[in-house]
Amino acid sequence: MAQSFVYTSNPARIVFGAGSIRQIAKELRRLGGTRALVLSTPSQHPNAQLLSEQLCTLSAGIYTNAIMHTPVAVTEQAMTIFAACGADCVVSLGGGSTIGLGKAIAYRNNAPQLVVPTTYAGSEVTSVLGQTENRIKTTVSDISILPEVVIYDPELTLSLPVQISITSGLNAMAHAVEGLYALNRNPVTSLMAIEGIRTLKHALPLIVANPIDIQARTDALYGAWLCGSVLGSVGMALHHKLCHTLGGSFNLPHAATHAITLPHTIAYNAIAAAETLTPITKLFGNNIGDGLYDFAVSLGAPIALKDLGLKESELDYAADIVVKNPYWNPRPLERKAIRALLQRSWNGSRPE
Ligand code: NAD
Repeated sequence: MAQSFVYTSNPARIVFGAGSIRQIAKELRRLGGTRALVLSTPSQHPNAQLLSEQLCTLSAGIYTNAIMHTPVAVTEQAMTIFAACGADCVVSLGGGSTIGLGKAIAYRNNAPQLVVPTTYAGSEVTSVLGQTENRIKTTVSDISILPEVVIYDPELTLSLPVQISITSGLNAMAHAVEGLYALNRNPVTSLMAIEGIRTLKHALPLIVANPIDIQARTDALYGAWLCGSVLGSVGMALHHKLCHTLGGSFNLPHAATHAITLPHTIAYNAIAAAETLTPITKLFGNNIGDGLYDFAVSLGAPIALKDLGLKESELDYAADIVVKNPYWNPRPLERKAIRALLQRSWNGSRPE
């Protein structure tokens, strides 16, 4: 039954499909860009170099030192290069780390962004930037941060290693699952969330079986766009707060942390959000935490935080930060229960 709601959708141009990277020069001109600084991580340097060559005079140069959690020192270095090469826009080719750097530049100088995502993290369709300075991660939200154009080309995801595809896909699902019980959800975001989860649940096992299955890659990227759009439109809760804490304060890898903790955080919240989570019981069974855990195990996802280098002695401190200044959550955050949840995530045991 329809209810009252308010929905502000993010303005962005989405160009989706295999081979769509060939539209990049046309899209850059349409955006008004004449000289782009092409960004990537060090491991995607060859791809950035190639893209820059393909852009010919539309490229002002490349900067390939993007790293996770967007350190301010890296952004400052990229800003210097942006100015020195006379760039007037950025092209971000890569996952959330590269996209974060492009957003950090745009936040400082309002440069238009054309983004080519090659993971499933979803940052390209949000107006949120997380940055790190003095080992503290803070987030800022502003319309200048939202990329203007996104080119989703599944062919560019064929090279994404299977392990990263799995964790990144589960990271995307996490946005949609939390979006289902968000306080400011609406019928459109819920439709996108359900379809995003369904599509990724179908595609990820196919990618594990055959990483160059272009149809599965296309479906996964489509699912990632839907899930990212949910992240960009509604508030997140315990799961994202917990991952933000573990990533920002303990420098754990973003996607793997999401993948490991998702079954546990959703099991914690399912008691209080049973009705809004009902649509995904068709996919994961009545006990969604268990269903998500079994799905992650079946994919070969990492399941224990101890394998990411987190020390057991750090769990108490992590629990303290999670319950401090919590995001809105369907179930109140109880320190003892959160500490137990962290222990299970650390051990790799089943959710409760
Ligand atoms: P990532 O961008 O660090 O990518 C992981 C690794 O995979 C990198 O080495 C990258 O070069 C490589 N890679 C990416 N695509 C590839 C491809 N197609 N082929 C081969 N290698 C490839 O990881 P991520 O999980 O996408 O992003 C994590 C970062 O994004 C974190 O800093 C996180 O905070 C941020 N993030 C921000 C938002 C937001 O809305 N602000 C949303 C999601 C993630």
